[in-house]
Amino acid sequence: MTKTKYIFVTGGVTSSLGKGIISASLAKLLQARGYKVTIQKFDPYINIDPGTMNPYEHGECYVTDDGAETDLDLGHYERFLNITTSQANNVTTGKIYQTVIEKERQGQYLGKTVQVVPHITDEIKRRICLLGDSGEYDIIITELGGTVGDIESLPYIETVRQIIWEKEEHECAVIHLTLVPYLAAAKELKTKPTQHSVKAMLEYGVQPDVLVCRTEHELGADLRKKIALFCNVKVNAVIESIDVETIYDVPLKMQKEKLDKVILAHLKLPSKMEPDLDSWKDFLWRLKNPKQEINIGLIGKYVELPDAYKSIAEAFIHAGSENECKVRVHYMHSELINDDNAKAKLGHLDGILVAPGFGERGIEGKITTIKYARENAVPFFGICLGMQCAVVEYARNVLGLKDAESSEMNPATKNPVIDMMEEQKKITKKGGTMRLGSYPCQLSKGSKAYLAYGKAKINERHRHRYEFNDKYRAAFEKAGMQCTGINPDSNLVEIVEISTHPWFVGVQFHPEYKSTVDNPHPLFVRFVKAAGEYALKKV
Ligand code: GLN
Repeated sequence: MTKTKYIFVTGGVTSSLGKGIISASLAKLLQARGYKVTIQKFDPYINIDPGTMNPYEHGECYVTDDGAETDLDLGHYERFLNITTSQANNVTTGKIYQTVIEKERQGQYLGKTVQVVPHITDEIKRRICLLGDSGEYDIIITELGGTVGDIESLPYIETVRQIIWEKEEHECAVIHLTLVPYLAAAKELKTKPTQHSVKAMLEYGVQPDVLVCRTEHELGADLRKKIALFCNVKVNAVIESIDVETIYDVPLKMQKEKLDKVILAHLKLPSKMEPDLDSWKDFLWRLKNPKQEINIGLIGKYVELPDAYKSIAEAFIHAGSENECKVRVHYMHSELINDDNAKAKLGHLDGILVAPGFGERGIEGKITTIKYARENAVPFFGICLGMQCAVVEYARNVLGLKDAESSEMNPATKNPVIDMMEEQKKITKKGGTMRLGSYPCQLSKGSKAYLAYGKAKINERHRHRYEFNDKYRAAFEKAGMQCTGINPDSNLVEIVEISTHPWFVGVQFHPEYKSTVDNPHPLFVRFVKAAGEYALKKV
């Protein structure tokens, strides 16, 4: 058996160049050639995980099966590769320091002074090699968050230097992602920022093997040669990454640029077969040749930053392609919706999704939106807080419990139809303490959820503290809201539906985290289908 190979992906010049997409695209190409690949991300911030961060700070918090709250790039890895990631796939500076400090308190450093080098770098190294040591993978791609030159990225680059030094030749490759900006006034692409960024890497003792250059214009042979010469890489290792229509085009672009071949040659790995990307190409073809177009409202409170709902947006792309339907997602602020303007604001929509979230802001707008969807037979999909709001709306307007609320919004409410889970009541710490990760759920035969999944036993991922209050269950069911998904161990209500409505489904879990290109999520697929049917009827 050959040893596990390591590919490091670093970023230069600016942030937001799309290291996650490049890493996922390369992984896709290697996987499609028959290699077992996984990706991990190292984030240089001091939070233990992004779970405690506001979505405005960091975009969506992605959740894995094993309950890790992670960077949203892990979502890209899962969506591209159709694999599941875990705690080990996302490490932060906070986690590194926490481990080192705990070891110090236990006296494990035997009287030594604990320092960034070697103790922090050793812990980074241990974490980088953890997945490789499992023997499960041929190739591990490690994405280093941040930009080369940042103070906080330094220990990571130093660790990469040490790993390359320790491993044998051809066991590691370094890809550096940079920007080649276009100066409109000079009508020229500029290579200097790339040169400087590579120089910074060299100062830390790491020579990139491949440069992936983000650009708005084609690079041209001369420019490639110039970059290659000054950055000390071969010309074929200068890879152009030009802006594309959708992130799902990137693997094919990278294949055209031979990124996978260059890397395999560097790692002295056989090219095996050509990548099998037939199903990927089919997906893209359906995505780009839709037969219908629909408008979906995504009602939330972090709508200024679409990254806050990344997995939902991507799940709509997967489900749209599956239905050969272009899904236009309209991000709408729930605070701006009220009884007086609901029709004007929501009337053009073919489907309404009320998003997950926390806290009181914008709640009443969400409830008004749900009332509109319910009364006007507009397909409705509520996720987590969206489901909880659907329960509150039904309690108030159908069960007649006018003061019904979630105890998250009003702890003193007389009718807490959504209430804090029992095990949450004694928890005081905020980080990593929600009900997190994958739990089983049993579906009622004949329900919309059952029809979508095509089976009765499912597993979905969670991130919440509040739940449907079981005391009210009989009253809801009598009044026409059915509980069609139940956790078989705790009896917790996971799905509510209204069977007399064309498509009204609220889920306590987060289906968006499990939608991939190869496996679009069944609930999103059915929701888009229902919205498509609604749109046709409307005309
Ligand atoms: N705030 C709600 C809860 O904690 C919903 C969480 C969510 O939407 N992810 O239960």
